[in-house]
Amino acid sequence: MAEPTQIADDVVVKIEYTLTVEGEILDSSADEGPLEYLHGHENIVAGLELALTGKKVGDKISVTVEPAAGYGEYDDESVAFVDRMEIPVGVPLEEGTEIVMEDDDGEAMSATITWVGPDEVKLDFNHPLAGETLHFEVEIVGLRAPTVEELDHGHVHDEGYHHHDEEDDDNHHH
Ligand code: ZN
Repeated sequence: MAEPTQIADDVVVKIEYTLTVEGEILDSSADEGPLEYLHGHENIVAGLELALTGKKVGDKISVTVEPAAGYGEYDDESVAFVDRMEIPVGVPLEEGTEIVMEDDDGEAMSATITWVGPDEVKLDFNHPLAGETLHFEVEIVGLRAPTVEELDHGHVHDEGYHHHDEEDDDNHHH
């Protein structure tokens, strides 16, 4: 496979980026190093992926992503009150704690504890950035073709990418 010269589906893209929400820097490659991701596989939010399509190494873009193309609109109904006994042992019962629960089908669902009562806690299943308008400053610093395995998995395997087996699809064998 020829080395890619511009961003398209199935290209591994390396970016320096800063994510700002309401003027506050929430995430930056200045802290964690550049991010490498496989383009066209929903590894980054849709609005940013769209804005990067067709860009080349050295390009710098400034992108505003509305919630619908980011982490979704905030859904008032994606909350639940559950008995404190249902919270896994060892999870601190305090506001802001992020936990992973299983739904009735055994699917993992991330939630944030947003209220702690004497018998129940309130869980918010919205993404922490749901409803937020995201501002990205991005510089494209590298492009390469994916390995066969990366393309098969739909994500990169380089160090620096947060590859957690437990978050992988069922067909993964890491
Ligand atoms: Zn994988």
